[in-house]
Amino acid sequence: MSSVAVVSSENLYEKQQSCATPVVQATAAKVNLLGMSRPELEKFFEDLGEKKFRAGQVMKWIHQYFVTDFAEMSNISGKLREKLEKICEIKAPEVVHRNYSKDGTRKWVFRVGDGEGSLVETVLIPAEDKTGARKTLCISSQVGCALDCSFCSTGKQGFQRDLTPAEIIGQLWMANYSYMEDVPVAERERTVTNVVMMGMGEPLLNYDAVLSSMQLMLDDFAYGMSKRRVTLSTSGVVPKIDQLAQDIDVALAISLHAPNDELRNELVPINKKYPLQQLIAACQRYLAKDGNESARRHVTIEYVMLDGVNDQPEHAQQLLKLLKNLPSKINLIPFNPFPHAPYGRSSRNRIIAFQKTLSDAGFVCTIRQTRGDDIDAACGQLVGQVADRTRRAEQWKKKVAQQQEILRTQG
Ligand code: SAH
Ligand code: SF4
Repeated sequence: MSSVAVVSSENLYEKQQSCATPVVQATAAKVNLLGMSRPELEKFFEDLGEKKFRAGQVMKWIHQYFVTDFAEMSNISGKLREKLEKICEIKAPEVVHRNYSKDGTRKWVFRVGDGEGSLVETVLIPAEDKTGARKTLCISSQVGCALDCSFCSTGKQGFQRDLTPAEIIGQLWMANYSYMEDVPVAERERTVTNVVMMGMGEPLLNYDAVLSSMQLMLDDFAYGMSKRRVTLSTSGVVPKIDQLAQDIDVALAISLHAPNDELRNELVPINKKYPLQQLIAACQRYLAKDGNESARRHVTIEYVMLDGVNDQPEHAQQLLKLLKNLPSKINLIPFNPFPHAPYGRSSRNRIIAFQKTLSDAGFVCTIRQTRGDDIDAACGQLVGQVADRTRRAEQWKKKVAQQQEILRTQG
């Protein structure tokens, strides 16, 4: 691993590293076990003529001990290990950039796909809460996004492709592994406590891959996370919210951002297809699905604060009415500006006044900490910066080569 002397102009990075993923290199023909859910892995072993309990054993090696080399899986017979080495691999996406900041925040940019591939980002944010040290990982589900919300830099990139289950769970694997690289295998632990599907992309439009990744997050043979600590965030793909209610019990966050259809049509265009009334009804059905033991006691309402657009007193009043019959907690997100964004961030005072209206009416309403403006970066902004730097570095290389060519021909 080598250090690179690239520092962003905004001084965002305290430590930049370019690195190759420390996992087995394998040919494309091999089956990647990283993204397989337990039923899929059981079937895989049965098809090999092996007992299905092998699936649980291998899952623990992969997701709890972060082992990628079959030779280290000591409770698997030598013969089976050899067989596995020949036909499969455990391969996380390649890390092309990482940044571990002094405040504990960690960020990765992964390259996914063949050749040049595409870039996706993952951010880990630590926090102290009443349950102790929390480490929340913000995971991407797609490269780009088709839904084109007007305040979102991922939306501005357009949609490129869905991530595979291995690329989704690989982000969690890598974040956990990053704390355990130097720890002996037998002593390794899972460090990430919370996951939010709030990185790049709309998770409900990559439904199957996101579902099987979340199943791995909850599975005791894999990450064994509490269902209340896995949150799916959606801009409101109503039929898929109903499907999710049938398939898995995780916490739900809704990117609302506007309290009336007219404004929401403008900010979150999918609202034209599934307007607010339908969205709120889907949230109510989601919460009604299970009892108090489930992760579904409330939905989290995300509301980005855009100066002069959705932050006025009448918007707060409309929001109160809209959410009257929906158990919800509201999270106000100061807008994170990006180049050519058509909005500004609401002032601190405006955000506090908005919060007060909601809290006075009995809602739990928090303001997301921005920690130096770069922390909400899992909205496509980090990828933008890395891509820019890569482009600049390439242009520079070309220029140097041209200069050398001129000198050579002149000399
Ligand atoms: N597509 C999903 C999940 C990814 S977006 C969704 O929309 O919910 C994760 C969160 O970041 C969403 O609430 C989104 O609205 C918010 N977001 C996007 N761009 C932002 C920006 N520039 N500033 C602040 N929050 C932003
Ligand atoms: Fe897509 Fe979410 Fe961004 Fe909207 S806010 S464009 S749904 S990633």
